[in-house]
Amino acid sequence: MRKLHLDVCPFCNGKATMNADKCITANSFWTIQCDKCRVCIADADEETAVRKWNTRQSPAIEAARHEIANARASWPPFNSAHEGFSILKEEVDELWDEVKVNQKRRDLEKMRKEAIQVAAMGIRFAEEVCDEINGRK
Ligand SMILES: [Zn+2]
Repeated sequence: MRKLHLDVCPFCNGKATMNADKCITANSFWTIQCDKCRVCIADADEETAVRKWNTRQSPAIEAARHEIANARASWPPFNSAHEGFSILKEEVDELWDEVKVNQKRRDLEKMRKEAIQVAAMGIRFAEEVCDEINGRK
């Protein structure tokens, strides 16, 4: 039997283990489960289960993708590197506002939200500004 490569867990970087019939809700399925956070995926086909596991994206990446879509629905593309940078910096400043709160009183969900907005604006910057038309403005 050939050995299929399993990436680390996309949610916690834990080691993953593949088994058969381990999911409560699935019978005769190949299951892959994170040894650390216990997140699980299943499929009747072994290779499909591995492909599904290895191509999963973290909730943070999904949230950034959603943030990008919302921003694009509400705002035009960045017109220049300066405009894109000022918006990205505004998001970084908002993240910094959350980070510099006393660590015991930090609002972790708010900090996560700001970090995702930084990621989203960084991706928008890369996609909307870094070309010959807008990148030199
Ligand atoms: Zn995990």
